Amino acid sequence: TFDDGPSATTESVLDTLKAEGVPATFFVMAADNNEEYLPLLERTVQEGHLIALHTCSHDYKSIYKSSDAYWDDLQKLREKLLPYVPADHEIKWLRFPGGSSNTVSAHSYVGLMSLLTRAVQDAGFQYFDWNVDSNDAGGAKKAQTVFNNVTAGVSQNRVSVVLQHDIHDFSVDAVEDIIVWGLNNGYSFERLTENSPGVHHGVQN
Ligand code: ZN
Repeated sequence: TFDDGPSATTESVLDTLKAEGVPATFFVMAADNNEEYLPLLERTVQEGHLIALHTCSHDYKSIYKSSDAYWDDLQKLREKLLPYVPADHEIKWLRFPGGSSNTVSAHSYVGLMSLLTRAVQDAGFQYFDWNVDSNDAGGAKKAQTVFNNVTAGVSQNRVSVVLQHDIHDFSVDAVEDIIVWGLNNGYSFERLTENSPGVHHGVQN
């Protein structure tokens, strides 16, 4: 799974996925700094990947101010995606910014994630966290580190939901090696489906 795109590096990851014949899931955003890349979503869908919701602004302070603020942001994102995602590509999957275990929301609204994790499911969405973090939004700054984190994190005993961000060149540069390693070690790659485990983090707020 790739978060925070589409961006200037999304085409590169799409090229790699296409060359390897591997589908992925993209939890997208649509803020001022990436809106120009939204047309890439058409290609993303055409090539068999899943578009899922992340956030419009990715501004924690405004998104997690209240339940209404969260829904406003999500609705804004859905509207911005409409021109680029075919109507039959159902978008009912989402990933909370910072994951469902985030505690940034506690600064403005105690109990907000408990409320939202229930509310999104009541509204017919499924939310996905992850169980393998490439750490490309944290300490990893090189493709080799991303590769090491992902290959050390996956397990043959469960479905691995890998978190990467298609906004970092070094992370996207690791994708091909990760796929080759995975295929050589008995793994297969799938986009998320209704039957995928949600891999929910423990809600902490
Ligand atoms: Zn994000």
